[in-house]
Amino acid sequence: MPDDIRDWGVVGAGGAGFPTDIKYRRAVDTFIVNAAECEPLLHKDKELLLHFSDDFFAGLALAMERSGAREAIIGIKGKYRHVIEVLAPRLPKWARIHPLGDYYPAGDEFVLVYDVTGRVIPPGGLPLDVDAVVNNVETLVNLGRRRPVTQKYLTVAGAVRSPATVCVPVGTSMRTAIDMAGGPAAEPYGILVGGAMMGKLAQSPDDPITKTVGGLIVLPEDHALLRWYRRDWKAINRLGKSACDQCVFCTERCPRYLLGHPIEPHKAMRALMFAPEKDMLIVGAPYCCECNLCSLFSCPENLDPKNVCVFDKQVVREAGLKWTGKPRGVHPLMNARRPPVAKLIAKLGLRHFHNTGPYVDIAVRVERVILPLKQHVGAPSVPTVKVGERVKEGDLVAAVAQNAIGANIHASIDGVVTKVNGEVVIERKG
Ligand code: SF4
Ligand code: SF4
Repeated sequence: MPDDIRDWGVVGAGGAGFPTDIKYRRAVDTFIVNAAECEPLLHKDKELLLHFSDDFFAGLALAMERSGAREAIIGIKGKYRHVIEVLAPRLPKWARIHPLGDYYPAGDEFVLVYDVTGRVIPPGGLPLDVDAVVNNVETLVNLGRRRPVTQKYLTVAGAVRSPATVCVPVGTSMRTAIDMAGGPAAEPYGILVGGAMMGKLAQSPDDPITKTVGGLIVLPEDHALLRWYRRDWKAINRLGKSACDQCVFCTERCPRYLLGHPIEPHKAMRALMFAPEKDMLIVGAPYCCECNLCSLFSCPENLDPKNVCVFDKQVVREAGLKWTGKPRGVHPLMNARRPPVAKLIAKLGLRHFHNTGPYVDIAVRVERVILPLKQHVGAPSVPTVKVGERVKEGDLVAAVAQNAIGANIHASIDGVVTKVNGEVVIERKG
Protein backbone atom coordinates (compact mmCIF):
# COMPACT_ATOMS: atom_id res chain seq x y z
CA MET A 1 0.00 0.00 0.00
CA PRO A 2 1.54 3.39 -0.97
CA ASP A 3 2.28 5.86 1.85
CA ASP A 4 0.87 8.89 0.02
CA ILE A 5 -2.25 9.33 2.19
CA ARG A 6 -0.12 9.13 5.34
CA ASP A 7 2.37 11.58 3.77
CA TRP A 8 -0.39 14.12 3.05
CA GLY A 9 -1.47 14.08 6.71
CA VAL A 10 -5.11 13.27 5.94
CA VAL A 11 -7.24 12.70 9.05
CA GLY A 12 -10.97 12.45 9.70
CA ALA A 13 -12.02 16.05 9.14
CA GLY A 14 -15.27 16.01 11.05
CA GLY A 15 -14.54 14.37 14.38
CA ALA A 16 -11.67 13.06 16.46
CA GLY A 17 -9.17 13.10 13.58
CA PHE A 18 -8.48 9.41 13.04
CA PRO A 19 -5.58 9.04 10.55
CA THR A 20 -7.26 8.09 7.28
CA ASP A 21 -4.57 5.74 5.93
CA ILE A 22 -5.08 3.41 8.90
CA LYS A 23 -8.73 2.88 7.95
CA TYR A 24 -7.66 1.25 4.69
CA ARG A 25 -5.32 -1.34 6.17
CA ARG A 26 -7.96 -4.05 5.94
CA ALA A 27 -10.13 -4.65 2.86
CA VAL A 28 -13.89 -4.20 3.29
CA ASP A 29 -16.91 -4.67 1.06
CA THR A 30 -18.70 -1.37 1.77
CA PHE A 31 -17.49 2.21 1.78
CA ILE A 32 -19.75 4.77 3.48
CA VAL A 33 -19.58 8.53 2.97
CA ASN A 34 -20.67 10.37 6.09
CA ALA A 35 -22.48 13.43 4.74
CA ALA A 36 -25.10 13.37 7.49
CA GLU A 37 -23.89 16.57 9.20
CA CYS A 38 -26.48 16.55 11.98
CA GLU A 39 -24.94 19.19 14.29
CA PRO A 40 -27.38 22.15 14.42
CA LEU A 41 -26.48 25.14 12.19
CA LEU A 42 -23.54 23.42 10.43
CA HIS A 43 -23.56 23.18 6.62
CA LYS A 44 -19.94 22.55 5.62
CA ASP A 45 -20.27 19.07 4.10
CA LYS A 46 -23.28 19.99 1.99
CA GLU A 47 -21.44 23.08 0.71
CA LEU A 48 -18.34 21.05 -0.13
CA LEU A 49 -20.44 18.60 -2.14
CA LEU A 50 -22.00 21.50 -4.05
CA HIS A 51 -18.82 23.46 -4.73
CA PHE A 52 -16.04 20.85 -4.83
CA SER A 53 -17.70 17.78 -6.27
CA ASP A 54 -14.74 17.07 -8.62
CA ASP A 55 -12.38 16.76 -5.65
CA PHE A 56 -14.99 14.76 -3.76
CA PHE A 57 -15.47 12.19 -6.53
CA ALA A 58 -11.68 11.95 -7.10
CA GLY A 59 -11.24 11.27 -3.39
CA LEU A 60 -14.06 8.74 -3.38
CA ALA A 61 -12.43 6.84 -6.27
CA LEU A 62 -9.10 6.76 -4.42
CA ALA A 63 -10.79 5.62 -1.19
CA MET A 64 -12.58 2.82 -3.07
CA GLU A 65 -9.29 1.65 -4.58
CA ARG A 66 -7.45 1.65 -1.23
CA SER A 67 -10.28 0.16 0.85
CA GLY A 68 -11.05 -2.57 -1.66
CA ALA A 69 -14.77 -1.83 -1.29
CA ARG A 70 -17.21 -2.90 -4.00
CA GLU A 71 -19.98 -0.47 -3.13
CA ALA A 72 -20.03 3.12 -1.92
CA ILE A 73 -23.05 4.52 -0.08
CA ILE A 74 -23.39 8.27 0.41
CA GLY A 75 -25.47 8.96 3.53
CA ILE A 76 -26.93 12.46 3.18
CA LYS A 77 -30.08 14.09 4.50
CA GLY A 78 -32.97 13.58 2.10
CA LYS A 79 -34.00 17.20 2.64
CA TYR A 80 -30.92 18.32 0.70
CA ARG A 81 -32.60 17.51 -2.61
CA HIS A 82 -30.61 20.14 -4.52
CA VAL A 83 -27.33 18.49 -3.46
CA ILE A 84 -28.61 15.02 -4.32
CA GLU A 85 -29.63 16.33 -7.77
CA VAL A 86 -26.06 17.56 -8.33
CA LEU A 87 -24.50 14.27 -7.21
CA ALA A 88 -26.91 11.76 -8.77
CA PRO A 89 -25.94 12.19 -12.47
CA ARG A 90 -22.26 11.85 -11.59
CA LEU A 91 -22.51 8.69 -9.49
CA PRO A 92 -20.23 5.87 -10.64
CA LYS A 93 -22.04 2.54 -11.10
CA TRP A 94 -20.63 1.28 -7.80
CA ALA A 95 -22.08 4.16 -5.77
CA ARG A 96 -25.55 5.03 -4.50
CA ILE A 97 -27.14 7.68 -2.33
CA HIS A 98 -28.98 6.79 0.86
CA PRO A 99 -31.25 9.67 1.94
CA LEU A 100 -31.33 10.10 5.71
CA GLY A 101 -33.97 11.67 7.91
CA ASP A 102 -33.29 15.06 9.52
CA TYR A 103 -32.56 13.78 13.03
CA TYR A 104 -29.74 13.77 15.55
CA PRO A 105 -27.24 12.04 15.71
CA ALA A 106 -27.51 10.79 12.12
CA GLY A 107 -23.76 11.34 11.70
CA ASP A 108 -22.73 9.06 14.58
CA GLU A 109 -20.77 6.31 12.80
CA PHE A 110 -22.64 3.51 14.55
CA VAL A 111 -26.03 5.02 13.72
CA LEU A 112 -25.03 5.81 10.13
CA VAL A 113 -23.67 2.34 9.44
CA TYR A 114 -26.90 0.83 10.76
CA ASP A 115 -29.09 3.22 8.79
CA VAL A 116 -27.42 2.63 5.43
CA THR A 117 -26.51 -1.08 5.71
CA GLY A 118 -28.67 -2.55 8.49
CA ARG A 119 -25.48 -3.80 10.20
CA VAL A 120 -24.89 -3.12 13.90
CA ILE A 121 -21.30 -2.45 14.92
CA PRO A 122 -20.69 -4.40 18.14
CA PRO A 123 -20.22 -2.45 21.40
CA GLY A 124 -16.73 -1.00 21.48
CA GLY A 125 -16.17 -2.05 17.86
CA LEU A 126 -15.37 -0.28 14.60
CA PRO A 127 -17.11 -0.15 11.20
CA LEU A 128 -14.38 -2.61 10.09
CA ASP A 129 -16.07 -5.20 12.32
CA VAL A 130 -19.05 -5.15 9.97
CA ASP A 131 -16.99 -4.98 6.78
CA ALA A 132 -17.29 -1.23 6.29
CA VAL A 133 -15.21 1.94 6.31
CA VAL A 134 -16.65 5.41 6.93
CA ASN A 135 -15.12 8.70 5.77
CA ASN A 136 -16.40 12.23 6.08
CA VAL A 137 -16.97 14.44 2.98
CA GLU A 138 -14.07 16.79 3.66
CA THR A 139 -11.71 13.87 4.21
CA LEU A 140 -12.56 12.70 0.68
CA VAL A 141 -12.11 16.20 -0.74
CA ASN A 142 -8.64 16.21 0.86
CA LEU A 143 -7.86 12.79 -0.64
CA GLY A 144 -9.03 13.97 -4.06
CA ARG A 145 -6.57 16.88 -4.00
CA ARG A 146 -3.62 14.49 -3.55
CA ARG A 147 -1.51 16.98 -1.64
CA PRO A 148 -0.69 17.90 1.96
CA VAL A 149 -3.66 19.05 4.02
CA THR A 150 -3.10 22.76 4.58
CA GLN A 151 -6.61 24.20 4.32
CA LYS A 152 -9.68 23.81 6.49
CA TYR A 153 -13.33 24.34 5.67
CA LEU A 154 -15.75 25.21 8.44
CA THR A 155 -19.15 26.76 9.01
CA VAL A 156 -19.21 29.84 11.22
CA ALA A 157 -22.71 30.27 12.63
CA GLY A 158 -24.76 31.55 15.54
CA ALA A 159 -24.23 35.15 16.64
CA VAL A 160 -22.33 36.31 13.54
CA ARG A 161 -23.55 38.85 10.97
CA SER A 162 -23.36 36.57 7.90
CA PRO A 163 -23.22 32.85 8.75
CA ALA A 164 -21.02 31.18 6.16
CA THR A 165 -18.85 28.24 5.26
CA VAL A 166 -15.31 29.50 4.75
CA CYS A 167 -11.87 28.13 3.95
CA VAL A 168 -8.79 29.12 5.97
CA PRO A 169 -5.21 27.87 6.29
CA VAL A 170 -4.99 25.24 9.06
CA GLY A 171 -3.88 27.03 12.23
CA THR A 172 -5.68 30.31 11.48
CA SER A 173 -7.24 32.01 14.51
CA MET A 174 -10.96 31.56 15.15
CA ARG A 175 -11.22 35.34 15.27
CA THR A 176 -10.21 35.53 11.59
CA ALA A 177 -12.85 32.96 10.58
CA ILE A 178 -15.50 34.85 12.59
CA ASP A 179 -14.54 38.07 10.79
CA MET A 180 -14.97 36.23 7.46
CA ALA A 181 -18.56 35.53 8.54
CA GLY A 182 -19.23 39.25 9.02
CA GLY A 183 -17.89 39.46 12.55
CA PRO A 184 -19.61 38.77 15.88
CA ALA A 185 -23.19 39.96 16.25
CA ALA A 186 -22.86 39.99 20.04
CA GLU A 187 -20.24 41.32 22.44
CA PRO A 188 -18.90 39.78 24.54
CA TYR A 189 -19.23 36.34 22.99
CA GLY A 190 -18.13 32.74 23.52
CA ILE A 191 -17.37 30.04 20.96
CA LEU A 192 -18.36 26.39 20.81
CA VAL A 193 -15.81 24.62 18.65
CA GLY A 194 -17.16 21.76 16.53
CA GLY A 195 -20.86 22.28 17.16
CA ALA A 196 -23.57 22.95 19.70
CA MET A 197 -24.01 19.29 20.69
CA MET A 198 -20.52 17.82 20.69
CA GLY A 199 -18.44 20.96 20.76
CA LYS A 200 -15.90 22.25 23.19
CA LEU A 201 -15.55 25.73 24.62
CA ALA A 202 -12.82 27.79 23.00
CA GLN A 203 -10.46 29.32 25.50
CA SER A 204 -10.08 32.43 23.35
CA PRO A 205 -10.97 33.70 19.84
CA ASP A 206 -7.23 33.47 19.18
CA ASP A 207 -7.29 29.67 19.46
CA PRO A 208 -6.19 27.99 16.21
CA ILE A 209 -8.49 26.15 13.80
CA THR A 210 -7.14 22.61 13.53
CA LYS A 211 -7.74 19.90 10.91
CA THR A 212 -10.76 18.59 12.80
CA VAL A 213 -12.76 21.80 13.39
CA GLY A 214 -15.92 21.55 11.27
CA GLY A 215 -17.67 24.58 12.68
CA LEU A 216 -17.73 27.44 15.17
CA ILE A 217 -20.93 28.34 16.98
CA VAL A 218 -20.61 31.89 18.25
CA LEU A 219 -22.96 32.75 21.12
CA PRO A 220 -23.60 35.75 23.35
CA GLU A 221 -21.60 35.36 26.53
CA ASP A 222 -24.76 34.91 28.65
CA HIS A 223 -26.38 32.27 26.38
CA ALA A 224 -27.72 29.31 28.38
CA LEU A 225 -25.76 26.83 26.26
CA LEU A 226 -22.46 28.46 27.16
CA ARG A 227 -23.45 28.46 30.83
CA TRP A 228 -24.26 24.77 30.50
CA TYR A 229 -20.87 23.98 28.96
CA ARG A 230 -19.16 25.87 31.78
CA ARG A 231 -20.68 23.77 34.57
CA ASP A 232 -17.95 21.98 36.51
CA TRP A 233 -18.00 18.41 37.83
CA LYS A 234 -18.87 19.55 41.36
CA ALA A 235 -22.11 21.17 40.13
CA ILE A 236 -22.92 18.26 37.77
CA ASN A 237 -22.44 15.77 40.60
CA ARG A 238 -24.41 17.77 43.18
CA LEU A 239 -27.36 18.45 40.85
CA GLY A 240 -27.39 14.87 39.57
CA LYS A 241 -27.50 13.43 43.09
CA SER A 242 -30.26 15.74 44.25
CA ALA A 243 -32.60 15.96 41.27
CA CYS A 244 -32.56 12.78 39.14
CA ASP A 245 -35.96 11.14 39.45
CA GLN A 246 -34.97 8.04 37.43
CA CYS A 247 -37.54 8.80 34.74
CA VAL A 248 -35.29 6.89 32.27
CA PHE A 249 -35.90 9.37 29.42
CA CYS A 250 -32.12 9.70 28.98
CA THR A 251 -31.79 5.98 28.33
CA GLU A 252 -34.94 5.59 26.26
CA ARG A 253 -33.68 8.13 23.71
CA CYS A 254 -29.97 7.23 23.83
CA PRO A 255 -28.94 6.32 20.24
CA ARG A 256 -26.45 3.68 21.35
CA TYR A 257 -28.97 2.11 23.76
CA LEU A 258 -31.49 2.01 20.91
CA LEU A 259 -28.92 0.12 18.82
CA GLY A 260 -28.83 -2.49 21.58
CA HIS A 261 -25.57 -1.42 23.23
CA PRO A 262 -25.21 -1.75 27.03
CA ILE A 263 -25.16 1.99 27.75
CA GLU A 264 -27.96 3.09 30.12
CA PRO A 265 -27.28 6.61 31.39
CA HIS A 266 -30.05 6.55 34.02
CA LYS A 267 -28.11 3.75 35.74
CA ALA A 268 -25.00 5.91 35.77
CA MET A 269 -27.15 8.56 37.48
CA ARG A 270 -28.46 6.00 39.96
CA ALA A 271 -24.91 4.91 40.77
CA LEU A 272 -24.04 8.56 41.35
CA MET A 273 -26.72 8.74 44.02
CA PHE A 274 -26.43 5.47 45.86
CA ALA A 275 -23.64 3.16 44.89
CA PRO A 276 -19.99 2.90 45.75
CA GLU A 277 -17.71 3.59 42.82
CA LYS A 278 -17.00 0.05 41.63
CA ASP A 279 -20.60 -0.63 40.76
CA MET A 280 -21.79 -2.82 37.91
CA LEU A 281 -24.44 -0.17 37.18
CA ILE A 282 -21.80 1.84 35.35
CA VAL A 283 -20.16 -0.99 33.44
CA GLY A 284 -21.82 0.16 30.19
CA ALA A 285 -20.47 3.73 30.45
CA PRO A 286 -17.54 3.16 28.05
CA TYR A 287 -20.06 2.61 25.24
CA CYS A 288 -21.37 6.18 25.47
CA CYS A 289 -20.45 8.11 22.30
CA GLU A 290 -20.78 11.46 24.11
CA CYS A 291 -23.43 12.74 21.70
CA ASN A 292 -24.93 14.80 24.55
CA LEU A 293 -28.50 13.95 23.54
CA CYS A 294 -29.36 12.79 27.06
CA SER A 295 -28.05 15.96 28.67
CA LEU A 296 -29.05 18.64 26.17
CA PHE A 297 -32.35 17.20 24.93
CA SER A 298 -33.80 14.23 26.82
CA CYS A 299 -33.45 15.08 30.50
CA PRO A 300 -36.46 17.05 31.77
CA GLU A 301 -34.49 18.09 34.86
CA ASN A 302 -31.63 19.73 32.94
CA LEU A 303 -29.16 17.24 34.44
CA ASP A 304 -26.00 15.99 32.77
CA PRO A 305 -25.98 12.20 32.40
CA LYS A 306 -23.49 12.45 29.54
CA ASN A 307 -20.79 13.93 31.73
CA VAL A 308 -21.62 11.41 34.45
CA CYS A 309 -21.00 8.67 31.86
CA VAL A 310 -17.75 10.35 30.84
CA PHE A 311 -16.69 10.42 34.51
CA ASP A 312 -17.67 6.75 34.87
CA LYS A 313 -15.58 5.72 31.87
CA GLN A 314 -12.49 6.56 33.89
CA VAL A 315 -13.84 4.76 36.98
CA VAL A 316 -14.61 1.64 34.90
CA ARG A 317 -11.15 1.69 33.35
CA GLU A 318 -9.36 2.11 36.68
CA ALA A 319 -11.48 -0.58 38.37
CA GLY A 320 -10.89 -3.03 35.50
CA LEU A 321 -14.65 -3.59 35.16
CA LYS A 322 -15.84 -5.29 31.99
CA TRP A 323 -19.22 -5.68 30.39
CA THR A 324 -19.69 -9.34 29.47
CA GLY A 325 -23.32 -9.47 28.35
CA LYS A 326 -24.85 -9.90 24.93
CA PRO A 327 -26.24 -6.98 22.85
CA ARG A 328 -30.04 -6.76 23.14
CA GLY A 329 -30.67 -6.07 19.47
CA VAL A 330 -32.03 -2.91 17.89
CA HIS A 331 -34.97 -1.38 19.76
CA PRO A 332 -38.23 -1.68 17.80
CA LEU A 333 -39.01 2.01 18.46
CA MET A 334 -35.62 3.34 17.42
CA ASN A 335 -36.97 5.31 14.47
CA ALA A 336 -39.80 6.88 16.44
CA ARG A 337 -37.43 8.10 19.13
CA ARG A 338 -35.00 10.02 16.97
CA PRO A 339 -35.19 13.75 17.73
CA PRO A 340 -35.70 16.03 14.70
CA VAL A 341 -32.91 18.59 14.38
CA ALA A 342 -35.47 21.44 14.30
CA LYS A 343 -36.69 20.41 17.77
CA LEU A 344 -33.12 20.21 18.97
CA ILE A 345 -32.41 23.72 17.67
CA ALA A 346 -35.42 25.02 19.61
CA LYS A 347 -34.42 23.18 22.79
CA LEU A 348 -30.87 24.53 22.59
CA GLY A 349 -32.09 28.12 22.29
CA LEU A 350 -30.66 28.49 18.76
CA ARG A 351 -33.92 29.10 16.88
CA HIS A 352 -33.38 32.81 16.34
CA PHE A 353 -30.03 32.27 14.59
CA HIS A 354 -29.97 31.81 10.80
CA ASN A 355 -29.72 28.13 9.92
CA THR A 356 -27.68 28.70 6.75
CA GLY A 357 -24.00 28.56 5.92
CA PRO A 358 -23.40 29.18 2.21
CA TYR A 359 -19.83 28.71 1.00
CA VAL A 360 -18.18 32.11 0.56
CA ASP A 361 -14.95 32.18 -1.40
CA ILE A 362 -13.01 34.89 0.47
CA ALA A 363 -9.29 35.27 -0.09
CA VAL A 364 -7.76 36.04 3.26
CA ARG A 365 -4.09 36.76 3.94
CA VAL A 366 -3.30 35.11 7.25
CA GLU A 367 -0.12 36.50 8.86
CA ARG A 368 0.37 33.84 11.54
CA VAL A 369 -0.70 30.23 12.04
CA ILE A 370 -0.45 28.03 15.10
CA LEU A 371 -0.17 24.31 14.31
CA PRO A 372 -0.67 22.14 17.42
CA LEU A 373 1.44 18.96 17.26
CA LYS A 374 -1.62 16.88 18.15
CA GLN A 375 -4.55 17.49 15.81
CA HIS A 376 -5.45 13.84 15.46
CA VAL A 377 -5.95 10.54 17.25
CA GLY A 378 -2.62 9.04 18.35
CA ALA A 379 0.76 10.40 19.33
CA PRO A 380 1.73 14.05 18.86
CA SER A 381 3.77 14.67 15.72
CA VAL A 382 7.49 15.33 16.00
CA PRO A 383 8.73 18.70 14.69
CA THR A 384 10.98 18.48 11.62
CA VAL A 385 11.81 22.21 11.54
CA LYS A 386 13.73 24.62 13.73
CA VAL A 387 13.02 28.17 14.87
CA GLY A 388 14.17 30.61 12.22
CA GLU A 389 13.69 28.18 9.33
CA ARG A 390 11.83 29.50 6.28
CA VAL A 391 9.05 27.22 5.03
CA LYS A 392 6.65 27.18 2.12
CA GLU A 393 3.00 26.18 2.20
CA GLY A 394 2.86 22.39 1.97
CA ASP A 395 6.31 21.75 3.54
CA LEU A 396 6.41 19.10 6.25
CA VAL A 397 6.85 20.74 9.68
CA ALA A 398 6.03 17.80 12.00
CA ALA A 399 6.02 14.08 11.23
CA VAL A 400 4.29 11.01 12.63
CA ALA A 401 6.39 9.65 15.47
CA GLN A 402 8.20 6.42 14.54
CA ASN A 403 5.97 3.32 14.71
CA ALA A 404 3.17 5.46 16.14
CA ILE A 405 -0.39 6.18 15.08
CA GLY A 406 -0.56 9.82 14.07
CA ALA A 407 -0.49 12.28 11.20
CA ASN A 408 1.99 14.53 9.44
CA ILE A 409 1.52 18.29 9.76
CA HIS A 410 2.46 20.74 7.00
CA ALA A 411 3.06 24.48 6.78
CA SER A 412 -0.23 26.12 5.83
CA ILE A 413 1.31 29.47 4.81
CA ASP A 414 4.71 30.63 3.53
CA GLY A 415 6.77 32.11 6.36
CA VAL A 416 9.31 31.70 9.10
CA VAL A 417 9.04 29.23 11.97
CA THR A 418 8.94 31.18 15.23
CA LYS A 419 8.12 28.39 17.71
CA VAL A 420 8.30 24.57 17.80
CA ASN A 421 7.48 23.77 21.40
CA GLY A 422 4.12 21.89 21.68
CA GLU A 423 3.04 23.63 18.49
CA VAL A 424 4.67 24.96 15.37
CA VAL A 425 4.09 28.66 14.82
CA ILE A 426 4.72 30.17 11.39
CA GLU A 427 4.68 33.89 10.68
CA ARG A 428 4.89 35.70 7.37
CA LYS A 429 8.02 37.82 7.49
CA GLY A 430 9.94 39.76 4.89
S1 SF4 B 1 -33.57 11.87 32.09
FE1 SF4 B 1 -32.69 13.09 33.75
S2 SF4 B 1 -34.05 12.81 35.47
FE2 SF4 B 1 -34.55 11.20 34.00
S3 SF4 B 1 -33.27 9.44 34.63
FE3 SF4 B 1 -32.10 10.56 33.14
S4 SF4 B 1 -30.85 11.98 34.32
FE4 SF4 B 1 -32.46 11.26 35.67
S1 SF4 C 1 -24.21 11.07 25.56
FE1 SF4 C 1 -26.06 10.23 26.49
S2 SF4 C 1 -27.42 9.83 24.78
FE2 SF4 C 1 -25.37 10.04 23.93
S3 SF4 C 1 -24.53 7.97 23.86
FE3 SF4 C 1 -23.91 8.86 25.83
S4 SF4 C 1 -25.45 8.22 27.23
FE4 SF4 C 1 -26.32 7.92 25.21
